[in-house]
Amino acid sequence: MKHECYYTINEMLRSNRNVVAGISTRHGGVSHQPFHALNLGLHVHDQSSDVIENRNRLANALNTKLNQWVFADQVHGKQISEVKRVDAGKGSNLYHTGIIGTDGLYTKDSNIVLALAYADCVPIYFSAKNLNIVGIVHAGWKGTVSRIAQEMIHTWSKEENIPSDEIEVWIGPSIQQCCYEVDQHVIDHVDDIMEDKVKPYTTTTVTGKYMLNLQELNRQLLIKAGVPSTQIHVTTLCTSCSVNHFFSHRKENGQTGRMLGFIMFNE
Ligand SMILES: [Zn+2]
Repeated sequence: MKHECYYTINEMLRSNRNVVAGISTRHGGVSHQPFHALNLGLHVHDQSSDVIENRNRLANALNTKLNQWVFADQVHGKQISEVKRVDAGKGSNLYHTGIIGTDGLYTKDSNIVLALAYADCVPIYFSAKNLNIVGIVHAGWKGTVSRIAQEMIHTWSKEENIPSDEIEVWIGPSIQQCCYEVDQHVIDHVDDIMEDKVKPYTTTTVTGKYMLNLQELNRQLLIKAGVPSTQIHVTTLCTSCSVNHFFSHRKENGQTGRMLGFIMFNE
């Protein structure tokens, strides 16, 4: 379903009807160039008051209040943090009050909106069949090769006793293989974690670089962690190709805003 300021994730709603998940677009906000219009990142040198206005608009569009939202200080790592009701509102108005040094959030509390910021990196959303638990991770190439997607599965299995085959995952809009050229340095890290002879997630270019498919790489990592492939949903929406709808760090040479990936469940 397409809205002015966000896309929702219908696959998750189908299997777990009380889950609300999606990603914002760049439409419907008040920020000026190069953050036009719905920039939701407080850390990119946009006017804070504009960002807060934009965040309130998104919160309202989802029938929530911004003080139900929880943000993180993202570091391209693999730290997963559990969020509880007492954390509600952290990072919503001030960047430094967000959950520190974390690229993965999950909660078992209802009506808490988990939010992570993106501009090309891969948003990965998690829910479990018939259980009130949701999570989200931020996986750029560094997070991906740190195996943050697997980290969420292992955390839910270890800490929450949820078998990996009961977890449903959705890989959201992000930069796709069509637009994501990387150099040997990145591929070396990929090769360190994947022993496969056949690598369906990379192709080489005529200039000796590589086109990397971060969505497929994360999908393979999730399958290795025990999530059935039928429970992993991947979008083909590319943030770089669709820069009229999304912020793209790569396409806009680093001068751009941030979308929010978000997930919550209602009781
Ligand atoms: Zn593309």
